[in-house]
Amino acid sequence: MLQRLRPPRAATGALLPSSTRVLARSLATTTTPTSPAPKSRNDTNPPVGIYLHFPYCTHRCTYCAFNVYAHPPAGAPPPLVEAYVKELTHALTEEVPGRRWDVRSVYFGGGTPSLAPQEFFERTLASIHQHANAVAADAEITVEANPSDITLDKLHAWRAHGVNRLSIGVQALDDATLRLFERDHTAQQALRAVELAKKVFPDRISLDFIWGRPGQSVRAWKNELRRILGVADGHLSLYQLTLERGTRLVRALNTDDDLPAMPSDDELADMYEATVQITAAHDFHQYEVSSFARTRANEAVHNSGYWRGHEYIGVGPGAHGCIARRGPGTRDKTYRIMSPSAWAATCHASGHGMLKRAKMTRRAVAEERVVMGLRMVRDGLVVDEEVAEVLDGEAVEKMVRDGFLEWTERGVRCTRRGLAVVDAVVPRVLRAEKEEEEVRERVLQ
Ligand code: SF4
Repeated sequence: MLQRLRPPRAATGALLPSSTRVLARSLATTTTPTSPAPKSRNDTNPPVGIYLHFPYCTHRCTYCAFNVYAHPPAGAPPPLVEAYVKELTHALTEEVPGRRWDVRSVYFGGGTPSLAPQEFFERTLASIHQHANAVAADAEITVEANPSDITLDKLHAWRAHGVNRLSIGVQALDDATLRLFERDHTAQQALRAVELAKKVFPDRISLDFIWGRPGQSVRAWKNELRRILGVADGHLSLYQLTLERGTRLVRALNTDDDLPAMPSDDELADMYEATVQITAAHDFHQYEVSSFARTRANEAVHNSGYWRGHEYIGVGPGAHGCIARRGPGTRDKTYRIMSPSAWAATCHASGHGMLKRAKMTRRAVAEERVVMGLRMVRDGLVVDEEVAEVLDGEAVEKMVRDGFLEWTERGVRCTRRGLAVVDAVVPRVLRAEKEEEEVRERVLQ
């Protein structure tokens, strides 16, 4: 009902609650007169990313709560590669009738895609080239790799298939931690794999590490980070350990008195601050909460697409996607069947393993853009009409006054202080849905 009563776009400002008008005023005063007004996004279909989920691992690491399965699958392996090709073909030709897809990035994630046969990369990439409208000449094509899988032969084969970037999960340069996490490599083995990978993918390697680990002191993390920076290539993803419910690590922390304790909140804050300072001192810039790059060219294209709210197609068991199925500016989430064997069987029977599609409301799209946009260090959040509707302008102004946010030409972004607590900033700046409805009712009566 309210939707039908909405005025045409040009008059929407009259309906915005006062708090949002405060935001609009603040933006107006911080936008240079020559800057174009923030424009509504997605009025064309920009290039997309494609995510392919390979769900197998040799075993489950103790901290992991992803959708992963033992490799090789028990019993006769299903004709998996063929299922990926079928689902990709369907996604690129039939899922959105009439849509022609331009691809800017492909990401092989998991699980452990470095365990997959070469046929998987060869055939899926060939299918993308065959069915996409265009694949950008400089498209980023990334494989997530475990150090223990990396051999010179595999590296050359990936490159021959068109892969041009590796994301290697090292996680720690400390063997006691690697044992606690039940990683299947030592620090030395991981470093050897990184050196090998640099020979084939120079300047195109990202390394993943986890900090805030049980028993880790601030000093130990600072020392480890300096060692990491000594071996790093162009990109680092430095994640704080997330304790996922139901994982073996969490159970062990709750029951095993011999396990070292987790760092305190103050220590975690110091570790984050040290991460930002030490990476900067080694000429890495932070461009997202957990992402650091040596140059702008080293920044991750595929992941930046998520943070900027771009579309992505998800293919494979349990893969998620987010596409404009109902036209520019809209978003539908897509969810594939989780179990690899059930997914593959469905792909063979009906050409795809879609479990469900969920239409995102305009509000949900805008809220997701706030959640993601405030993680971006340089660009921050672009505040256009849709985003302004879900922001509490007074809360944003307060966050600016308190030093957690700052204005940009096109919106707001977290300050360094705000980035450290971005998960607490986001809920404070989002306007409650109830308030929005009350305001609209008042205006429309
Ligand atoms: S390798 Fe990665 S996906 Fe596989 S179990 Fe370990 S953390 Fe999870």
